[in-house]
Amino acid sequence: MSPRPYILAETTWQHVKDAAYEVVVLPWGATEAHNYHLPYATDNMQCDYVAAEAARLAWEAGAKVVVLPTIPFGVNTGQLDITLDINLNPSTQLAILRDIVQVLARQGIPKLVLLNGHGGNDFRQHLRQLQAEFPTVFLCTLNWFKAVDRSKFFTAPGDHADALETSAMLHIAPALVRPLSEAGSGHAKQFRVEALRQGWAWAQREWTQVTADTGVGDPAEATAEKGAAVLAAATQAIGTFLTELAAADPRDMYE
Ligand SMILES: [Zn+2]
Repeated sequence: MSPRPYILAETTWQHVKDAAYEVVVLPWGATEAHNYHLPYATDNMQCDYVAAEAARLAWEAGAKVVVLPTIPFGVNTGQLDITLDINLNPSTQLAILRDIVQVLARQGIPKLVLLNGHGGNDFRQHLRQLQAEFPTVFLCTLNWFKAVDRSKFFTAPGDHADALETSAMLHIAPALVRPLSEAGSGHAKQFRVEALRQGWAWAQREWTQVTADTGVGDPAEATAEKGAAVLAAATQAIGTFLTELAAADPRDMYE
């Protein structure tokens, strides 16, 4: 395997010292149960894959972009009673993020993209706060799974160990996906209170009360081909974003 110059973990100081990176990508995942058929590192493997592939596309388009190692623990406050779901509190995430942004600010690296791969992570408020503290680093975030229109690929709804995640893993790491015959149905109970059910009022879902198998969404329609297609669409969109962002002037972002 030859080192990929846009993956920091594979790159040496020899290369990095003169690289003048424009965009740093920080993938952030989670370690948690994903129904009976997907591994605990599902979100992290998806983050690794999507960040690397999007960065490759951007790099090949001339963007100076580099991907940091994926942070493997996310906010799992709704899954505290699921064995070895590892919870990082939002305040802990803010502390980690502040230290990382401080490095970029000190070294004059102008842009950070926080590439999120876990529904329980929401970095927007963190970035609002840190943007005020570190005005020289342009901060932004995206959820990779929102970069595509899910309904173009899948009919059953879902957001956790569902057909989308299962398809993605069948493409990324098929040897780690158990046969779909072993998967639970991913049936998820809905809130009784109507506004919460509709989603315009929000409360955290208490996972073990919502789903018996930890999945939310039926994985039955998942295939490796759909995984390849959905990942290609997502990485292309994100690669284009990284390329455009690398070329953008943070002091002139509006038209
Ligand atoms: Zn997941």
